[in-house]
Amino acid sequence: MRRLARTLVRLGFIIALGAPALCPGDAAAADKIRVVATTTDLKALTEAVGAELVDVDALARGNQNPHDLEVRPSLMIKVRRADMLVINGLELDQWAEVVVQGANNPKVIPGASGRIDASEGLPVLEVPTTRVDRSLGDVHPVGNPHYTVDPGLAPQITANILAGLARLQPQSRPVFEKNRAAFLARLDEAMGPWTAMLAPFKGAKVVQYHPDFVYLFTRFGLVKGGSIEDRPGIPATPAHLARLIQDMKQEQVRLVVVEPWNDVKLAERVAQDAGVKVRVLAPSVGAVKEAKTYLDTVDYNVRTLADGLR
Ligand SMILES: [Zn+2]
Repeated sequence: MRRLARTLVRLGFIIALGAPALCPGDAAAADKIRVVATTTDLKALTEAVGAELVDVDALARGNQNPHDLEVRPSLMIKVRRADMLVINGLELDQWAEVVVQGANNPKVIPGASGRIDASEGLPVLEVPTTRVDRSLGDVHPVGNPHYTVDPGLAPQITANILAGLARLQPQSRPVFEKNRAAFLARLDEAMGPWTAMLAPFKGAKVVQYHPDFVYLFTRFGLVKGGSIEDRPGIPATPAHLARLIQDMKQEQVRLVVVEPWNDVKLAERVAQDAGVKVRVLAPSVGAVKEAKTYLDTVDYNVRTLADGLR
């Protein structure tokens, strides 16, 4: 009998350890849908739809290159407790599958109802016409995965997120729909000024370090020049840089843009040799200090492009 009591005490202890830690007055937090997004952009867009009904965490920080995130146990712990995982897809965040395996959380495995691929239904740019061998190091084998920088795609991305959230909490669908509509209305309001700001530079050619901004350029009528990288994810060779600088002069490229985590000094050297300006853009929310929210990030990128092209 005493042995049974001891076992029960021990079991109780284990159950207490396994239960989520609740602070006093934290009852509301316990009801929220716990979402993990692989990037800060998807975190911001999930918060726009879920608002007070979700608690969202991102795996990559805004100032980290989402192509090559180091999988750490801390990421697995975040995913272990999640009700939902929002991934970028298009092979940007394939490391998330390693995190999911380590997290051992059946709610968010591929095909589970708590899994959202935010790229579903999007018009994907730069889909290779020939087979790309990933073993050669190209990190865009199924097309360009950096679609979240384009505010014009936010309606589709947030529709995907809404579908996922409503699957988990059908009774809250009207709230999610209202939140999404309010967010898209604010975005729509900003689209006019953004379009006007870049209108004078229609057709201007911009060189990128990595093709992070093709969707943004396409939205606002700018044209993609070459890249400082040889191919996506593959460092430049001296021969490639020499050819790029020559092309920039011939094709009258107007600007070089670079991500904060890439070699800004190299971008500056290329820009100087070609006689153009260089600007640091924000590929994700939090990449630079001005990019605090999703709208701030688009706004920062549009203003920085206009400033660099002026
Ligand atoms: Zn990329």
